[in-house]
Amino acid sequence: MDHAKQVVEQILRGEVRAAARLIRDLDDGVPAARAILKELYPHSGRAHVLGITGSPGVGKSTLTDRLIQYLRAEGKTVGVVAVDPTSPFSGGAILGDRIRMQRHALDEGVFIRSLATRGHFGGLTASARAVITVLDAMGKDYVLVETVGVGQDEVEIAGTADTTMVVTVPGLGDDIQAIKAGILEVADVLVVNKADREGASRTQQDLLQMLELQVHRKDPAWRPPVILTQAKENEGIAELMAAVKEHQLFLARDGGAARQRARYQRVRQEFLELLREGVFRHLLQQLEKDGRLAAILQDIVERRTDPYSASEALILETLGPV
Ligand code: GDP
Repeated sequence: MDHAKQVVEQILRGEVRAAARLIRDLDDGVPAARAILKELYPHSGRAHVLGITGSPGVGKSTLTDRLIQYLRAEGKTVGVVAVDPTSPFSGGAILGDRIRMQRHALDEGVFIRSLATRGHFGGLTASARAVITVLDAMGKDYVLVETVGVGQDEVEIAGTADTTMVVTVPGLGDDIQAIKAGILEVADVLVVNKADREGASRTQQDLLQMLELQVHRKDPAWRPPVILTQAKENEGIAELMAAVKEHQLFLARDGGAARQRARYQRVRQEFLELLREGVFRHLLQQLEKDGRLAAILQDIVERRTDPYSASEALILETLGPV
């Protein structure tokens, strides 16, 4: 059996070392790793991917830790991807580096990866998707994708999940800005954590009201619930998981019609991104190789042509008419 096939089988069997090595290789841009990812892809799509996003400090790590604990008690296997674009550390090298998740690091049913640098994969979202695919193909029942904040990348990543939780805390304040900035649109479940603090039910009401007024919804047939939790005290976790499972059931209804619709949109986005990157990279390599780029640029500099006509002509010449 060739090496790639062997690695694929090891990962499909759930072998942690093989998966860890593959994720590191993907991060380093090893071409063989991409070939393995292609082989794994048809075996993915079985895990339920849970996105957890919200501003720093709202309690996402604590919540993730509690969710792992809850799911493990149910006998479910769990993969975790912690995405931190602000961290200087490179992804695959750190196992369970988020302190509160450390205690799960020795549990065989839990596999934690953190992702920080953009790697060689064309963006953090693409890297996150690749890691999710690996964890999914390993046979994890749930893949939790935790992001540290509400930056564009992070919201996009959280939005690639089957069920996206948006976490906030009482007394919205600054957070309401983040929510207005479109984060509500990716939410399937809203969480008001630190419900021990004053104003929790007020915040819950405010959010429900915002949801009422919302124009753009991921799926008009699903009304996101707003769940109160106290992650630190392990309160409200069963209610939160019940909401997640209800969403899971919603997605599975009518032979999984809603799930298919949602996945179609995500796959569309992913595919178009890959196409955009790939076409551009390919064309650029061609242009640089034969010196044409320099010639075109010189023509523009000397006003023999303009950048608009030159780019249009090149696109037409390369890709043909629409
Ligand atoms: P993250 O930055 O969103 O991942 O937030 P963390 O999980 O690191 O939590 C930030 C702080 O909030 C920590 O000190 C937690 O102990 C605390 N925290 C988490 N959940 C709760 C809660 O339900 N109530 C209160 N009062 N504090 C909490």
